[in-house]
Amino acid sequence: MEDLFCPNCKESISRIEFECSNCKFPLSGSEKEKAIFIGRQISNRSKIDDAKTSQNKVRIILYIIGGFQLLNALIGILNGFDASSYLFYLILGSIFIVFGYLSPKKPLVFISLALILLLGYYAFLYSISPRYLTQGLIWKIVSVSFLAYGLVKSLEERQLKKQNKFLN
Ligand SMILES: [Zn+2]
Repeated sequence: MEDLFCPNCKESISRIEFECSNCKFPLSGSEKEKAIFIGRQISNRSKIDDAKTSQNKVRIILYIIGGFQLLNALIGILNGFDASSYLFYLILGSIFIVFGYLSPKKPLVFISLALILLLGYYAFLYSISPRYLTQGLIWKIVSVSFLAYGLVKSLEERQLKKQNKFLN
């Protein structure tokens, strides 16, 4: 008996299978069912690509946020400010950069943490003086939006991968 392969994922399959056990391709389905399956698979792949693109944008935004904090710390050090004032920015900036670095690897965890930290930081600024929050307000809104969007896309990605193990 010759070996059979799934036309979609090239896994070997037995003659009697109704659908591929690896990718769920409808082996005994009609041409239309097969076409629908392929179409859905292409759309799922592009959604996963979108999630990756969004995670990379989040990483860059977190690097920029962290970079600004480190710059603040540096200004504090160069001006001989009290250590307590620049240590805060030094630690905060480093955390954002580490979260940025890790965000494409474990997006749900690190984008969530970064978003919580960022919103917490903005709440802290607001508690000191509402004026601090309105400085660079557009950039703050843009960065929070990008993080939230990246989180939504990553949730969608996880859902798709759960339903289609083959896409991993
Ligand atoms: Zn298959």
